[in-house]
Parts: sequence; structure tokens; C-alpha cells
Amino acid sequence: MSASQYPDVSLFIDGAWTAAAGGRTLSVMNPATGDALGALAHAERADLDRALAAAERGFQTWRKVSAYERAKVMRKAAGLIRERTDAIARLMTMEQGKPLAEAKGEIGVAADVIEWFAEEAKRAYGRVIPARAEGVYQLVIKEPVGPVAAFTPWNFPINQAVRKISAALAAGCSVILKGPEETPASCAELVRAYADAGLPAGVVQLVYGVPSEISEYLIPHPVIRKISFTGSTAVGKQLAALAGLHMKRVTMELGGHAPAIVFDDADLDVASKILAANKFRNAGQVCVSPTRFLVQERVFDSFVDKFTALAQKVKVGDGLDAGTTMGPLANARRITAMEGFIGDAVQKGATIRTGGKRIGNKGNFFEPTVLTNLNREMRVMNEEPFGPLALMVPFSTLDEVVDEANRLPFGLASYAYTRSAKTANAIAARVEAGMMSINHHGLALPEVPFGGMKDSGYGSEGGLEAMEAYLNTKFVTQAGL
Ligand code: NAD
Repeated sequence: MSASQYPDVSLFIDGAWTAAAGGRTLSVMNPATGDALGALAHAERADLDRALAAAERGFQTWRKVSAYERAKVMRKAAGLIRERTDAIARLMTMEQGKPLAEAKGEIGVAADVIEWFAEEAKRAYGRVIPARAEGVYQLVIKEPVGPVAAFTPWNFPINQAVRKISAALAAGCSVILKGPEETPASCAELVRAYADAGLPAGVVQLVYGVPSEISEYLIPHPVIRKISFTGSTAVGKQLAALAGLHMKRVTMELGGHAPAIVFDDADLDVASKILAANKFRNAGQVCVSPTRFLVQERVFDSFVDKFTALAQKVKVGDGLDAGTTMGPLANARRITAMEGFIGDAVQKGATIRTGGKRIGNKGNFFEPTVLTNLNREMRVMNEEPFGPLALMVPFSTLDEVVDEANRLPFGLASYAYTRSAKTANAIAARVEAGMMSINHHGLALPEVPFGGMKDSGYGSEGGLEAMEAYLNTKFVTQAGL
């Protein structure tokens, strides 16, 4: 596909695709080639004001549409996304870098997410509480919270957005989505599917621009009643603080530094295979990516050998090329970050078992990397690498590994491999993480909770909890006349 087949991306406000009021654009780059792909409309204050007014009207329209009818529109959008998978996947690979198969997988999951929330729309049940007096009805009613400001990043251009939009729409809210400026076209296709499915004007707006300018304007704005952000912990804390100042409800999906604990009774072939596949998926730019591989001493060498062999088999290349299993990093900042983490670790005594370097000088390609001889003084053992780095650390006892798993302020995903039910129970109970997957990789399905604790944020983007985040609870008590 040539660059000419990548569309320029507009804003979507009040049911229409539109250029930015000031005519400004940003350019979008292909991370595999470094070439410019196209232009992106850059919103300014006037665009945001139009988006806010539209979202206010859109909310008044959408909240009155029955849950049954909302679900119909949503299911239609899911169908359109499925039909358009091939075309959307190419756009995603061109702008984000991930292999085509991963892009297609992401789009399939997006359709599943929409369908799941479409069904949940019909089940936003309240309840009736038994009263203390005859003739009194005590009702608990769920109402949509109102217009939502959602901020989503570039690593999963569709899936970060679809969870927020779909839960909000199912609940009856309207949305202003600030999508990812570096990967805008595939995210725009999600919004297009919703628009083509018959979503009324004003129910979803899509804007791009300077993230801090947009969040600083939208979060305090009286029209906005709920904030949802996915991104780094540092930014999340700023936005949560601003939201707190204005008493806005918040969902925060932030960074992680997932421990993957391999006990000496584990099936090492299964553990190394599943963990390596998930480490190098999306080039490690995943908030739930396994990062600290905590491996019990007796099997440490054997596990590291198996994992390293799998890392060496990863085929790095342009995501559009058949056979590529890991694409480039999504932007040049990640290359700088990888080089910084590895340089610091090596200088403090780490050993590079494989990888460690950028590949070539065109595109953001980086070698799948395995490091050993790590210690807690190294930056990479404390900060989220968000790239294809696997950190191998031996441990001896359960207490020791629990201490290491809980050492960092993060608490998003965690993984464990063991054949002992006793060990599995102990580790699930003692690790401070929003998600724990034992003996398989089972996170991020639409129907299961997805979220963190500690500095990884709060709220959930999956399961029943995700709908709750977009609903207010109202209590009505009524006596007969
Ligand atoms: P960054 O922290 O500048 O940006 C992360 C995301 O937040 C981007 O989508 C960006 O547009 C948005 N953002 C930044 N400042 C904002 C603001 N003031 N208001 C609203 N949105 C804002 O860094 P980056 O280089 O894009 O990514 C680096 C780090 O971000 C990674 O190391 C990783 O820790 C984190 N990240 C996490 C996820 C995730 O899935 N949780 C996704 C992408 C990035």
C-alpha cells in the first residue's frame, strides 16, 4: 500500500467530518519507514467549544433512546467493523507498526467489545429495596453520568478507545474522544463505524491536537461529567488531580511493570512460550506486558535459555510484510527510551543475553532483548520499559518473590506459573495487582474486569464494573397517596 492510500484524518464533531477551525494540521509518520503518511486535523479552542456544545445536545438525545435501540446501533457498528477489518488493519499497521495479524486481532476484539457492551446496555439494572412501611417503594435507579471526555493512547489505537466509547454509549452517555495523534486513522475508523451505524449527531466527537491543551480545557468544563484516561502514570496523576479539583468522576488506566513469576514446579515450555509471545506482542508496548520475569533459582538458567531462544526467533520487520512477528516501535521516543534503559543497566552490571540494539537506521526497529544480572538500582527495574525488554531475576522463596512483585508502586497485571494449587492460591492472594493470570494468558476479554491498583490507576475497562463507571446511582423513595 502506498502512502497515498493513507487518508488525511479529520475531526468528527456533531455528526460531520470536519477540518480544524484554524486549518492547522499535524503530520502522521510510518514508524517502519520514517516517511510521512498523511495529515491530521489539529483542534483548537473553537473546535473544542463546538464539540462540547454537540456533546451536550448529543447527551440529551442519546439518554432518551431506549437501551434496546442503543444496543441495535452498537451491534450494527460491530458488524461494520468486522466487514472493514482488512482495510482498517492496514491503516493501523501503517501508522502504528504492529504486524497485520495483530492489527486484525485488535479489530476483532473491538467488535467483540462493542457487542458485549451492547448487551450490557439492556442490563443496567437498578433494584427495589424492601421498605419499612407499607406502600413505600424504595427504588435504586441507574442513570447515565453525562458527557464524557476520553483520552486514549497510540499503542492500541482502536482498543483503548472502543472500551471507553462503548461502555459510555451503552450507559447512555455522549463522548468527546481525544484520540492518539500518532495513530489517528484507525481510531477514526472506529468512530466512522459508529457514525455509519446510525449514531445520532453529537453522541460521539473525535478530536486531535495538543493533548495537554485539550485535557486542561475539557476536564474542568461544566459540560463534561466524567473523565477516562489511558496512558502513563505521570500524566494520569495530573489529570486525576485536575478532575478532583472539579469533582469529576474518573477512570484511570495507567502504567504497569508486570511481574511474571515462574516457580520451579512450572511447565517451563508452556511458561516460556506464552510469556515470550506476550512479551514481544506489539513490541512490548502494552500496559500488561510481562516485564520482570521472577524465576525460581533451580530453573532459572533453563527458563532463561528457553526464553532467549524464543526471543531470537522473533522476526522483526515491517508489519505489512508476511512473516513479521514484531514490528517497529511506534515512535522514535521509544528507541531513545530503550537505549537509555539498556545503557544504564549495563553500566550498573547487567548482562545482555540477546538483543540490546536498534536495528538499522531507518524506521524504529529494535531487537527483542533479554537482560540478566539485574539489580534494584537500575532504572529499568523501577520504570515501565514499554518496549521489547525482558528482565530475568532469580528468587528463592515465596516470601522473597512476593516482596519483589509488590516492591514497585505499580499494580496492574501479574502472571504466575506453577503446578501447585497451594502456591497459586498464595500468589493470587498476596500479589498487589488488579489482574493475575495463572498458568495461561487470560486478560483483557470484554467480559472480565480490566484495571489496576496503586499507581496503575483505578476503575475497570471490562466486565460489569466498566458500565458502572458511566452510571450514576439515584435513590427514589415513594409513598402511596
Ligand atoms: P506520554 O506520557 O507523553 O503520553 C502517554 C499518553 O498520554 C499519550 O496518548 C498522550 O497523548 C497522552 N497525554 C500526554 N500528556 C497528556 C495530557 N496533559 N493530557 C491528556 N493526554 C495526555 O508519553 P508517550 O511517549 O506517548 O508514552 C510513554 C509512556 O506512556 C510509556 O512509557 C507508557 O508508560 C505510557 N503509556 C501507557 C499506555 C497504556 O496502555 N497504559 C499507552 C501508551 C503509553
